[in-house]
Amino acid sequence: MALHETKDARARDAETDVFASALSGQILPKYRMPDDHSPSDVVYELLHNELLLDGNAAQNLATFCTTWSDDGVHRLMNECLDKNMIDKDEYPQTAEIEARCVTILADLWNAPAGTTGTGCSTTGSSEAAMLGGLALKWRWRERRRAAGLPTDRPNLVCGPVQICWEKFARYFDVELRQVPLEPGATGLRPEQLAAHVDENTIGVVAILGVTYTCVYEPVAEIAAELDRIQAERGWDVPIHVDAASGGFVAPFLHPDVVWDFRLPRVASVNTSGHKYGLAPLGVGWIVWRTADLLPADLVFSVDYLGGNMPTFALNFSRPGGEIIAQYYLFLRLGKAGYRRVQQACADTAQYLAREIEATGPFTLLYDGQGALPAVSYRLTDPAGAGFSLYDLSDRLRMRGWQVPSYPLPADREDTVIQRVLIRHGVTRDQIALLVADLRRAVEHLTATPQPVPATEPRPGFHH
Ligand SMILES: *Cc1c(COP(=O)(O)O)cnc(C)c1O
Repeated sequence: MALHETKDARARDAETDVFASALSGQILPKYRMPDDHSPSDVVYELLHNELLLDGNAAQNLATFCTTWSDDGVHRLMNECLDKNMIDKDEYPQTAEIEARCVTILADLWNAPAGTTGTGCSTTGSSEAAMLGGLALKWRWRERRRAAGLPTDRPNLVCGPVQICWEKFARYFDVELRQVPLEPGATGLRPEQLAAHVDENTIGVVAILGVTYTCVYEPVAEIAAELDRIQAERGWDVPIHVDAASGGFVAPFLHPDVVWDFRLPRVASVNTSGHKYGLAPLGVGWIVWRTADLLPADLVFSVDYLGGNMPTFALNFSRPGGEIIAQYYLFLRLGKAGYRRVQQACADTAQYLAREIEATGPFTLLYDGQGALPAVSYRLTDPAGAGFSLYDLSDRLRMRGWQVPSYPLPADREDTVIQRVLIRHGVTRDQIALLVADLRRAVEHLTATPQPVPATEPRPGFHH
């Protein structure tokens, strides 16, 4: 095509209805970059339509992550699109706001009086877990070296952790000692620790909001057991609390649960800003009890207002908007606002738990009280129900609901459960509609027994 013809064609395209344009009459290029450009409104509309196949995030009851944000967040995210949070020198106010958020979280988690908060933002709890694990490993190695002891076999002890801890262990060469679930248990039990902890244990990870069951592990009892082990064997084993979800729930709904820096043994805590922190996707946080718990040789300096600023991170460039949005939410909601939002979620979760129990074939593992705003349950009689939870997930999916089914971790992998998370933006009315769909699905599946109930996990759900 000659150049002027191409120009004419493009000019015509600009006046054409999006869905009558040349591009919308074709299958989109999928594996090779197209040779030429196309009108932005057409490309936008076509991609927008393709993305509808992802399903509706508001009906995704599998995710812990934020799926609703107010206008203030949308506007600030837009305004911060060009800010790189690592450029502390160019964007000193973003750096300042990050430091304020760390101090706010240290205070929320009862860091010792007089400390300002040692910590940083991350891309999420996974990166925060890597940083927390590295600090534990470094400090254990320093102690061992100082005592002239071998440093080649570090281990980390935990219960049914999220996959990020398995990654930490593999990437950074630490043996992961995952304590199996006892019959009837929904998390690590303190009395199991003695059989797994030894002189090479860099730390114990306690989870505030187990991803499988949504309960809190008993951090205070775990700390007391480690005190006892120290008195008996001399090993001083620190705790890192993975509070990915619970770090923004417990301070507001369960202030009497002692899990944070009130326990001297808790060295560090991580949380996901983009889960119950209510910030948009892409921000997590880690805070150490005191500055000396973060080994100096893990920290690098970057330029900052002519001086320099310590950083500890796995990546370099990263967007600054999520950090600003987090601070906006702290200011916008305050403690009372966070409490009301989380309480509304917890009330809805407890309502759902009552309805599920009343529906018949289910036994609750977690009823939404005392930990995360969520519900988990299993079939009371999996062999006699005539259908599996996987069948039920499929049936609910026909109405757009994403409710995951999956087996519990070892040693309870024979138990398949379903989990529903109630987040900011999931309403009581919406959950009432889910309950109606759930009842219809159970009636259908009971009336039409599944010849071979599906027993395999479907891919793609959050564990
Ligand atoms: C979600 C979650 C993680 C991973 O957090 P991201 O923010 O998704 O990286 C780690 N641990 C627990 C307990 C979680 O719930």
